[in-house]
Amino acid sequence: MTDKASAAAKAPAITLDGVDLSLGRGAARVHILKGISLSVAAGEAVGLVGPSGSGKSTLLMTMAGLERPDSGRVLVEGTDLSRLDEDALARFRGRRIGIVFQSFHLVPTMTALENVALPLELADQPDAHARAERELTAVGLGHRLHHYPAQLSGGEQQRVAIARAVAPDPAILVADEPTGNLDEATGSSIVDLLFALKRDRGATLVLVTHDPGLARLCDRTVRLRSGHVEAAAAA
Ligand code: ADP
Ligand code: MG
Repeated sequence: MTDKASAAAKAPAITLDGVDLSLGRGAARVHILKGISLSVAAGEAVGLVGPSGSGKSTLLMTMAGLERPDSGRVLVEGTDLSRLDEDALARFRGRRIGIVFQSFHLVPTMTALENVALPLELADQPDAHARAERELTAVGLGHRLHHYPAQLSGGEQQRVAIARAVAPDPAILVADEPTGNLDEATGSSIVDLLFALKRDRGATLVLVTHDPGLARLCDRTVRLRSGHVEAAAAA
């Protein structure tokens, strides 16, 4: 590794500084994230663990710029997300962050190929369809290119969602329970895929998981409890 590359590897990919967030209205308003400060190094894999309802998904969406904190700061590769308006934030996310949602969020009226090509087209990549086909083949879905989400199993939809997140070659990939809906064999192929992205492309991974095996593969785990970071320990 060159000096420049090792210096870049030390710059944090994500920094949260005193982040507070509440969601919902009126009596249903919930204080979800409470003074969260943490830093994720570039190229690091962090497992986000903790009981159901502890704020893992909300924290992940805040790191990805999909939720704005009420107070505190979120910096991604040194950029303070609160300084970006919605358009600039969407462009920044599109270039730098891949997001795998727990419920996939595929576009139901688009085929698998079209779903994966969409972010590439939005980023003006000329070979969007060819690249989407390669990414789908890499997740074992080369035979399902023209199927619609409703014609795919949960595991297949999950793989389409991962191919879509990975296709633009993001520096940071966040995934909410990426193996939660998959059988063991499919789950382990998804894990291989995520960690190949880290190894081969130097990507930073933040993974919400209940799977102790997946948490152990991460460089570090961050445990949430009731919206607080409970402990950060080497895995
Ligand atoms: P986890 O992913 O750890 O299960 P979440 O981040 O999904 O936790 O949710 C944390 C808490 O915030 C839960 O109590 C949940 O009900 C609540 N919550 C999540 N989203 C909203 C929302 N949009 N409005 C109100 N409460 C919410
Ligand atoms: Mg969740």
